[in-house]
Amino acid sequence: MRVLVTGGSGYIGSHTLVTLLQERHDVFTVDNFSNSSPETFNRVMRLSNQTFDFEEADVNDADAMSSIFSAFEPEAVIHFAGLKAVGESEEKPLLYYQENLNGTMNLLAQMDKINCRNIVFSSSATVYGIPEFLPYTEDHPLNPINVYGRTKLWSEQIISDWAATDPSKSAMLLRYFNPVGAHDSGQIGEDPSGIPNNLMPFISQVAIGRRPYLNVFGDDFDTKDGTGVRDYIHISDLASGHVKALDYISQHKGVEAVNLGTGEGVSVLEMVHAFETASGQKIDYKIMPRRKGDLAANWADSRKAETLLNWKATKTIHDMCADTWRWQSQNPNGYEPQS
Ligand code: NAD
Ligand code: UDP
Repeated sequence: MRVLVTGGSGYIGSHTLVTLLQERHDVFTVDNFSNSSPETFNRVMRLSNQTFDFEEADVNDADAMSSIFSAFEPEAVIHFAGLKAVGESEEKPLLYYQENLNGTMNLLAQMDKINCRNIVFSSSATVYGIPEFLPYTEDHPLNPINVYGRTKLWSEQIISDWAATDPSKSAMLLRYFNPVGAHDSGQIGEDPSGIPNNLMPFISQVAIGRRPYLNVFGDDFDTKDGTGVRDYIHISDLASGHVKALDYISQHKGVEAVNLGTGEGVSVLEMVHAFETASGQKIDYKIMPRRKGDLAANWADSRKAETLLNWKATKTIHDMCADTWRWQSQNPNGYEPQS
């Protein structure tokens, strides 16, 4: 299938590109490199042993996107591009609404112009908000508690309204849980700029000696060991979920929201210990107060993905830690050349 991938140079996009190319999809990708490096594309090409075209462009730039759509004529779009930092979204709500909502609307308008009817959208478990029950099923109430989560929920609604205009349109709203890990080659992985907000990149920077210790945000939650519990999913499993979603929307019409998680909750301290085992490095940590807005626990009900997409996560927590460590230790400065 001819697939336009937005944000293909990012963490999830780059791993998905490898899987799409391996499955012989014809790919074009667009990225403005606001949170990634063009070096990713060299590595994706090496890993997949294939080439693809890309353009440095902003999904909000209607003229640039219009030229790309008319030249490539995609049959489907996978839309990763957007801003994703929860804390920043609270400080700069208008930027987040501008980037995430306008980007999505512009894409849908361009799709209409060339009669492209299929989209896979990067949504997030943050659309659920405070759990009324766990695991979250896809019909759990949707009450995001931050601006970022609202941009995801409202994008889902915009896409659903777009799809409702024509019964031949098809949209898959993929609600990711916590993506971690790296390609098992160690060639591509997560490369956050500045101080990582997320647990796994922080742990791996402690392991490599870039940070002295991990701050564990709270040990007094009502969880198995008092620390926060999340559903971590290996990035390669997440990537294969996108290819399954593409297969699905090429054969079915309408809108579906699907959780991509493992269905298992893992605590912060369990992750620390798993990382120590996988890397052979000691991870020092200090218990700190809870982080504002953090939920005690959440994890996915992943049965819909299994039934609808024939997809199930296969990688273990050990795989997630071992692959993160391989990427981190082979690329201590991420995609930046070593000084
Ligand atoms: P990322 O920042 O690594 O990738 C996003 C990519 O999009 C980057 O390469 C960035 O340069 C590009 N980009 C951003 N704004 C753009 C724009 N206006 N035009 C063109 N390119 C633009 O993030 P990621 O972790 O790969 O996330 C991908 C998507 O998945 C995002 O929409 C994110 O909200 C969503 N998501 C991520 C997570 C997570 O924990 N990583 C969880 C749930 C959902
Ligand atoms: N966490 C932590 N220290 C960090 C980063 C995260 O203890 O430096 C905890 C956080 O409180 C949560 C879990 O790790 O319980 C996952 O946090 P992350 O930010 O990766 O994902 P999210 O909270 O968005 O699910």
